[in-house]
Formats: sequence, structure tokens, C-alpha cells
Amino acid sequence: MPQLRRLARVALALPLAALLIPLALLRATPLSADVPPTEAPAVTGVAAENFDRSVSPSTDFYRFANGGWLARNPVPADRSIYGVDTEVQKQNEARLRGILESQAVAEAPVGTERRKLGDYYWACNDVEGLDYHGFRSLQPFLGAIGALRSSAQLAGLAAAGARVRAPDDGLAPLFSFYSEQDPRDATRVIGTVNQGGIALSSRDYYIAADAASRKIRAVYLAALTATFRLLHDSPSQAAAEARATLEIETAIARASRTADALRDPVANYHPLSPAQLAALAPHFEWPAYFAGIGLAPARTARIDVGQPEVVAALDRLIVREPLAAWQSYLRWHLIFGRGYALPQDFEKVQFALNRELTGTRAEPLRTSLCTRAVNRVMGFALGHIFVERYFSPAARERARTEVASIKAALKADIATLPWMSPPSRRAALAKLAKLNTSKVGYPDRWRDYSALRVRRDDFLGDVFAAAQFQFDREVAKIGKPVDHNDWDFPPQTVDAEYDPSLNEIVIPAGILQAPFFDPAADDAVNFGGIGAVVGHELTHGFDDEGSQYDGDGNLRAWMAPADAKKFHARIACIVAQADAYRVLPGLHLNGKLVVGEATADLGGTVLALRALEASERGKPAAPAIDGFTPLQRFFIGYAASWRTSVRPEYERMMALSDPHPPAPYRTNATVSDMDAFYTAFAIAPGTPMYRASADRCRIW
Ligand SMILES: [Zn+2]
Repeated sequence: MPQLRRLARVALALPLAALLIPLALLRATPLSADVPPTEAPAVTGVAAENFDRSVSPSTDFYRFANGGWLARNPVPADRSIYGVDTEVQKQNEARLRGILESQAVAEAPVGTERRKLGDYYWACNDVEGLDYHGFRSLQPFLGAIGALRSSAQLAGLAAAGARVRAPDDGLAPLFSFYSEQDPRDATRVIGTVNQGGIALSSRDYYIAADAASRKIRAVYLAALTATFRLLHDSPSQAAAEARATLEIETAIARASRTADALRDPVANYHPLSPAQLAALAPHFEWPAYFAGIGLAPARTARIDVGQPEVVAALDRLIVREPLAAWQSYLRWHLIFGRGYALPQDFEKVQFALNRELTGTRAEPLRTSLCTRAVNRVMGFALGHIFVERYFSPAARERARTEVASIKAALKADIATLPWMSPPSRRAALAKLAKLNTSKVGYPDRWRDYSALRVRRDDFLGDVFAAAQFQFDREVAKIGKPVDHNDWDFPPQTVDAEYDPSLNEIVIPAGILQAPFFDPAADDAVNFGGIGAVVGHELTHGFDDEGSQYDGDGNLRAWMAPADAKKFHARIACIVAQADAYRVLPGLHLNGKLVVGEATADLGGTVLALRALEASERGKPAAPAIDGFTPLQRFFIGYAASWRTSVRPEYERMMALSDPHPPAPYRTNATVSDMDAFYTAFAIAPGTPMYRASADRCRIW
């Protein structure tokens, strides 16, 4: 860490507001959510009340398994979709909030992680304190921006602005800078310059000519003006600053690549030497920028510039725009998205803008906003307590065993796949052997937050310090070997991923919760739930996209072109099935859009079932529970992991744009391609769920 250890200081003269318990905390739910779980009741993992017994498994398996749950869980008024992810997310958030509320009150010894968690949460909830302090923590930055005398000094200010932004939020001035695994040398971490520098999330907001985009620009300009007014600029000055800022951002947006063009990893990779960088943007003082972010010259020998033409355009802009315009732009980029840490008037301006951008009608509860804020900056400290309370080492062991058994099932599958030639098969097995499956549950080594400073009476300062802590941590990786034990996201996250550049699968404790995974339930239900998720992610490493990366994570295609062709011929079956599916009257699924995800669903579920069968081999047959055989419970567990209520409007939008098919399809189409499903529920020819054996797709 290039930073000195700075312990949290106890302020001597606390303002009155900070001595009172923040109102938002008083209004929050009492500490009941923080009671550690008592002995969990033994469960089968199959909840009788979730079924709809009036629907036969042969007619609509999704409704049979989930109809009761769907009837009890309509979409809430403030949402368009309410599903199993939201359910688990809400539960996790309530638990995290409970942990933070108890830490805020407990006041653990100064300097400890628990104290920092509590102080950050407290400071965030203290909205009266935010009003009291105003923007005093902005002053050093505003002063430096005000002292800008030549464009040569711009790089230093860009560095200072970048350091107080989390590296991946895209809101740093001019461009984003972060560290990444070198796509052509997966053992090393290099620095990366990526297009950014605009506050609104898409270039289209600045450029598109339609009425909606024009309206958003008008609202945006009003938000800019109002913010400069809040910084005590005169009305005419504020209006001029707003226009200058929008002009610079619009120029950056015009030069930027479209979202589509950013998806090609090869076209967005340009490792440059310092001399090449200087030639690309001669008016930007790169050495000053790197010094400003704490990156020594020895570690800048090779910098990946994702979009060189965008950086060249920035250079022209530096020459063209007057210094005063840059000053306005830099002030805005310091403040944008920080309304929640400033006096409430700033947040009101920001919310009016958000309302236009996202359609959100109400601001989230302050306690909820603050729980997420702590989770973003101290996720591992929070996750450490979360795991102690809600995810045992025994549960991790069980989940790890499950993941390993699914990896073994994939190995057996690749060894016998009829469409893969021997060279591709060898390459696939070599890649699989290197696949890291150790990131299950939570990390063995926890992140060290000792260099992070948190004060109860300076929330904006805390937000800056936390961003800087994250930024410095990213930059510290540059020039070093890739750390394969480092976790990217904290363990309470409700997600799972396969990362092709690290060739690893991550299954955090956040998703290892019922109905995905229930340590108290039997294997069959869990293999149908989290097992299918793991299988889904694993197959992504070996499909048409995953086969562009080798086992070390280098961008190097290994599948023989003839095999890739055979793979595509096979998945034509999935495309046809999806094309035939009616989402709503007059609207069918787009097979080409969903084929990748639907293929992974089928492959993942097939692998999970094989892994379950392998784990039961040689053991006495598992008994029926609640009247269901293990095979039936496997499919019920799979269906339960998809239960989702959704509004038709949203369903329509997703069918048009989302590569993930809707939940009923993910359930019914997948199981009706699997022979075992027909055995499990005696599905007879002529029923809606029946597909003739020759029509069932088989990929993995
Ligand atoms: Zn997927």
C-alpha cells in the first residue's frame, strides 16, 4: 500500500448534530434483524405451499412447482419484476443492515474494522450532519481546480479526480484508469486507459436526436446549473459553467465508441510504450498523471489504451477548450453522483435527474442507501461478519464438494462429446484442468482495511477516502503477477460468475442461500438449485465464447474451426425451440438472442444431474421425502430456483433485448430436453411438456 496508516481520529469538537443518533437510524427497524440465527429447523428443501397441485407436471412443470409461490408473491407496486434473486437480495440486505446498525451503536475500539463499519454507516445516516458540514471536504479540491493556470496542469488534476473515484465507476475526469490482467500475458497485471469522462452512462444521451434524449439533456443542463448555484456561483456564471461542461462531455461522447464496439476484446486492446503514449496525446502530461496516481515510471512501461482514437480526440480537446471550461468540467466530475454525501439540496438536484434517467419515483430509504454505500466500500469487512453469522465452514465444504463434482461431470462429458475432435478435446481438457474452483463461499484471506480512514463527522471525506483506498489498491496491482486468491466482489453478493480471463468460477455465500442452496436440505434439491447454476457457468468456459480464451486466461482461441461449426449446428436445435416459444400473444422468443444462455441452462442442468447421480453411486437409494423421489426433488429444486413474478410490459421488453430467456422457459424448455425428466414425472406423449426423443436437444 503506498499509503500511510491513518487511524480514525476522534474529533474533539463534535457538532451537535453528530452527537445525536441520526434520525434515519432512529426510524430504522430495530435491531431484531441482527439476532444471529438460532438452530435452523430441519427442512427438506421442498416447500409444499409453493406447489400448485391443480396443475399437472405434464402440463406446465414451472407452474406445478411454483404456482403457490407465484400466487403469494405478485409483483410489488414499485417493481416490474420480483423473483428469486430479489428475494435472496432483500434477505441479505436486511441482514447486512442489521449488522451495520449494531456496529453503529456498539462503538468497537477506534481503528478496528467493526468501528469503521459502524462509523461509516452512522456518518452516512446523519443527514443533519451533512447539512451542517456543507461542502468543506470539497474545498481542497475546489481550491486546486481554481488554481489551474495552464493546460499542462490538467493531468495532475485529472489524477487527483481519478483517485477519489472507485476505479470502475467510469466517472473519473477525461478517462477511466484501472488495472487489468494483460489479455496477451495472463500472468501480469497492467494499467489500462479506457474511454470514460462523461457523467451520464451512455454516449447516446449526449448525441441522440430523439425527443426523449433531448429532454434528458435539458434536465441534465438544469441539474448542472443548479449544482453550480449550490456551490455559490452567480446565476449567469452557473449557466455558463453548465453549458461549458455539457460541451466538453458532448465532444468526448462524440469521439467515444458505441457499447457494441466495446465488446470486442481484441479491438479494444492496444499496449503502448511511454513514447507511443506521448505521441498519441502530446498535450497531456502523462508523467504528471502517473505520478499523481502513485504509479512509478518503472510500472508504466506498457499501458493498454483501449481506444486510442478517443485519447487522441481528448488531446485535441485539451488544446481547443479554454481553461475555464475545464475548471467547470472538473468541478462537476468531483460532485456528480456524490449528492448522498453532500447537503440535502445537492441530493435533491441529483434525484430530479435520476428520476428522468431511470423513472425512479421515490428515493430509497436512507438506511437502505447507506447499507449499499458501506457494502460498496467495505464489502469484505461487512462480508466477514455476514459469513460468521449466516454461512458456516461446513456449508462451504458442502458447496465446494458439489462444485468439484460438477467439474468432474464436465470432464467426463468433454471426454466423450461426439462433436469434439481429438485436438479440441485435448485443449478443452487442458483448460478444464486449470479451472480454479476454489472460490466458493468466502475467501480464506480477508481484505485489509487498516489503511482506510473513517470519521463519524465527515461523511464526504469518508466517501473520498474510501474511493481513494479502492483506487490505490487497484493501482498497487500494476506490474505484479496476478493474484489468484484475490476476490473481486465480496462474499455476500447474490451472483455467480465464470471469468474467462482468470479461468475461474466464483460462487459467493450470498447466492449459497435457499432456494439456491440450503445446507439443511438434501443433495437432490441443492444439485437442482445451485448445482445447475454452477454447471451453467462452467459450460460458458467451453462454448463458442469461452473457447476464445485458453486455460491461463490468454486471449487465444483453442477450438478447431470445424468443431466450432459442429457446435453451431447443434445449437440450431436450441434456436428453433426458442423461436417456437410464445412469450405473449403475438410475441415469440428470439432464438438467436437467447441461444447462448439457453444452451448453458441445458448443459448446466445435465451436468448437475450427472454429478448428483455420481455422488449417489454405491450408496443405498435415498428415500422419498414429502412423497418425492430424489430425481423428482432435483427437478423441483431446479424449477424453484427460477420462480419469478413479472409484469407483461417488462416481459415484452426482456423478450426483445435480454439474452436470458424468461423464467418459465428456462425451466420448462430445459427439463423437456432431458430424458430423466420424463422418467421422473411419467410425462406421456401428447401432453404439453412432451417432446419426442428425436426432438430433444443435446449439446453437452
Ligand atoms: Zn450465462
